[in-house]
Amino acid sequence: DNNAPNHFLRQIIDADLASGKHTKIVTRFPPEPNGYLHIGHAKSICLNFGLAQHFQGECNLRFDDTNPEKESQEFIDSIKEDIHWLGFNWAGEVRYASDYFDQLYTWAVELIENGKAFVCHLTPEQMREYRGSLTEPGKHSPYRDRPVAESLAEFEKMRAGEYKEGEAVLRAKIDMASPNINLRDPIIYRVRHVHHHQTGDKWCIYPTYDFTHGQSDAIEGITHSICTLEFEDHRPLYEWYLDNISAPCKPRQYEFARLNLNYTVTSKRKLKQLVDEQHVNGWDDPRMPTISGLRRRGYTAAALRDFCERIGVTRSDGVVDVGTLEFSIREDLDAKAPRAMCVLDPVKVVITNFDADKVEDVVLSNHPKDESMGTRVAPLTREVYIEREDFAEVAPKKWKRMAPEQYVRLRGSYVVRCDEVIKDEQGNVVELRCSYDPASAGASTEYKVNGVIHWVSASKGVQCEVRLYDRLFTEADPEGDKDKSFLEVINPESLVVTTTAWAEPSLTQASSEDRFQFERLGYFVCDRYDHSTDKLVFNRTVGLRDSWAK
Ligand code: ATP
Ligand code: MG
Ligand code: MG
Repeated sequence: DNNAPNHFLRQIIDADLASGKHTKIVTRFPPEPNGYLHIGHAKSICLNFGLAQHFQGECNLRFDDTNPEKESQEFIDSIKEDIHWLGFNWAGEVRYASDYFDQLYTWAVELIENGKAFVCHLTPEQMREYRGSLTEPGKHSPYRDRPVAESLAEFEKMRAGEYKEGEAVLRAKIDMASPNINLRDPIIYRVRHVHHHQTGDKWCIYPTYDFTHGQSDAIEGITHSICTLEFEDHRPLYEWYLDNISAPCKPRQYEFARLNLNYTVTSKRKLKQLVDEQHVNGWDDPRMPTISGLRRRGYTAAALRDFCERIGVTRSDGVVDVGTLEFSIREDLDAKAPRAMCVLDPVKVVITNFDADKVEDVVLSNHPKDESMGTRVAPLTREVYIEREDFAEVAPKKWKRMAPEQYVRLRGSYVVRCDEVIKDEQGNVVELRCSYDPASAGASTEYKVNGVIHWVSASKGVQCEVRLYDRLFTEADPEGDKDKSFLEVINPESLVVTTTAWAEPSLTQASSEDRFQFERLGYFVCDRYDHSTDKLVFNRTVGLRDSWAK
């Protein structure tokens, strides 16, 4: 069984510990700081940190920062915050691949000295041509057999800034006929005259991902270097570098299937495009599949961890239904979120036989299945708001809500009857005049009520803003149509804002990131940034049930 919890990587580590190959395991999570972390990264985080926890080992956080032009401190800070929020701690200090640039340079020189690397001046186009293809072997660079001393001197010139970008690269001397194109004399170092967020202007040459990753793993004593399946073809190169330098140890690379989610894009490049072109309001827009976006949407760290556990770890690619993610958050919030009443689209109900000055305390339990969550008071007054869609002037068959001359119960309180419908000149319902029966409080009653509806006192409740989020894309595979950009299948209704919703007064006590089940509507969170006591702002996390299910 390759699935959680005893997936193939756990079995490999179990065996490595049983055989004594390792006495302690060390993993790492190696993000490139060129964007915010997304739900796919959450899978990798839960896997790497989770394995370390399970086997009482350690997991490092290492920024894979070899492409300075796309990286930034903002991304570094957000990544650290997201990992902590998910509930994980890295071992010791944060590490940076750039911490190892001196050592990597020394190893590059070692390769040149041993005749295993050379400086090459082919142009990028020539290099592509010389590389060959899947069906054709490559050709040797004319610089391949230049004397060691010459390559050493040229490499020093690269480092000293005497070459422009593209004029010289350092390449490994491996095998231009290899069926694995990664082994056809791959580039080790390239010239980049750019400032680096960690090393400043110290370097104008930067090592490639492949030359950096395994060596960084070796420096940190990583035992199991876990990456996604795209890197399977890079493993021979990972091993070649470690075999051909004086590495302190030899970590091993293992691959697993990346997470793909339908109705979602997870390529950082595309997420960046959504942000840069303002299709969304930043990396942490609640519609984004970023960890910070999901957080702002109201997802809990526990739900994301549960989701990662649920989808398991395998070596076969597939697409996970976004409903699985929604299931995880519903399950978590059903248990943990207190209930509250909020009316999104209010219509006024006047209870004509209820005293105008009277305020009656209706005591409601915060959770139907968890008494420990206590109770709260919702004041009932002569005027209340109910949901516009909870009234029908002509009731359809089996109508479960309010209609003229029919009975409906106000949640936790009395049965009311709609006696009169008041409309404006355009025919819109503006007020419903009802009467209540003072003897109808409590669950048991003579009345055959249509149903129970939520309500909020008009005079004691507060106006609030509610942001109704939905899936960002209308297509299950937003990247699936080659004639259409993923931007063309953005859901135009992915965000609907109402500023005239009405919240029960207990909600004025709520703080940013507090989560609730709004009765009959779904799960909502107080916006992390925009919510305050003076201005309540709620984001819909998810509906009560899957409205997309057919
Ligand atoms: P992207 O393709 O979105 O740009 P990346 O792989 O370039 O992602 P990194 O910052 O290098 O992004 O990723 C850090 C770690 O997270 C890597 O080990 C990578 O394998 C893993 N990872 C990235 N995307 C996914 C995913 N969709 N599912 C599982 N793991 C992922
Ligand atoms: Mg990467
Ligand atoms: Mg990438």
